[in-house]
Amino acid sequence: MSLIRVGKVVLNRLIENGYEAYFVGGMVRDRLLGRDIYDIDITTSAKPDVVIGLFEKTIQTGIKHGTVTVMIEGIPVEVTTFRVEEAYEDFRRPSEVRFTSSLIEDLKRRDFTMNAIAESIDGTLEDPFHGLKDLSNRQIKAVGEAKERFIEDPLRMLRGLRFMSKLGFELEDETSKAIGEVGALIEHISKERIKKEIEGMVSGEFSLKAFNLLIHTPLCDSITYFKELKRYSSSNLARLEEGVELFALIGLTVEEMEDYLKAWPFSNVEKRMIKAIRECYNKQLPPQYIQYKYKEDLALHYHRIQNVLKQSVEKFELRELPITDRKELAIEVADIIQWINHPKGPWLSQLLEALEFEVVMGTLENEVVSLRNYIQQLGEGYEIKK
Ligand code: ATP
Ligand code: MG
Repeated sequence: MSLIRVGKVVLNRLIENGYEAYFVGGMVRDRLLGRDIYDIDITTSAKPDVVIGLFEKTIQTGIKHGTVTVMIEGIPVEVTTFRVEEAYEDFRRPSEVRFTSSLIEDLKRRDFTMNAIAESIDGTLEDPFHGLKDLSNRQIKAVGEAKERFIEDPLRMLRGLRFMSKLGFELEDETSKAIGEVGALIEHISKERIKKEIEGMVSGEFSLKAFNLLIHTPLCDSITYFKELKRYSSSNLARLEEGVELFALIGLTVEEMEDYLKAWPFSNVEKRMIKAIRECYNKQLPPQYIQYKYKEDLALHYHRIQNVLKQSVEKFELRELPITDRKELAIEVADIIQWINHPKGPWLSQLLEALEFEVVMGTLENEVVSLRNYIQQLGEGYEIKK
């Protein structure tokens, strides 16, 4: 079943049981724009416990905020009860929500007019804040008083920029002005939430446009490390495709990099990747060695970064490597120890890395004789170091 058909099954069930129910949010917006949709949001007058009772399989994803995920044939549909905006304390989302029986009230609490359009099962639109008009003018406009809405939840400002990056729209004047006035409040938002929005921004088709704006707003000034973005010319941000790349590229020192990785909620995989990319960049490692040492995914990532930096569109090509692993060297550690004739130590891994580098680069043949000659020629050097 298509996403929409699945969504209609859920709408039907709610309506048959006497409740109001509509499609809402990003899916309505994206469909009106003729874009693909990836998830379904439904807003309904039914309370969460009623929703749970009406469907065989539900997950209580955000029950505190009135959201239940209904599973239909393995497809999740987010069903949220009409609710009103409660006061935010210390910029935290309210722990409890107040439900309402009014669709309009529910739409009023939403962030932007284009996200506050409800669509009934027969396709009729409920558009009390003229989101349709803003969609056709390609404008991102806050519902109600922009400044008030951003003070209520400062994350909305970054969401606005994320939508700009995704859709290429402009910020409506009042909305833009409000970011200028209260942008600094973003410092109250958790790093997890900020990071998610930034990653969304980076992956948008119009990321350059959004980042160019971001770096001129107080949003940027009040987030440590965002300041680093300003070091980069906008063109360098043009075609970054993944958040990790953006964060890796900011030319930090080792100490700054450590602080940075601690300050943001990166996963271990992301951290490894960022460090590796930084090493490739700082040491200007050649592509075949990057492919050997860090494998294909990272090599591709790094290639993209290089393209951005060099303003080039070179295609990525995997290379045929003489060896793909240290084990494939024609000699073993025991051979080296015997030839060099002194105990194991850090010199050994340095030597192995040098051998791998030369072999991968094709400047040294992976044969016992040539490897031994190379080592013996270095041998004295290693002994002196000791
Ligand atoms: P996409 O899923 O394409 O990123 P979306 O608009 O669906 O965009 P979601 O985060 O899935 O964004 O949120 C769904 C809807 O919930 C939004 O369209 C908006 O109506 C409302 N919403 C989400 N976050 C907020 C918020 N911080 N303040 C007000 N309304 C919000
Ligand atoms: Mg969504």
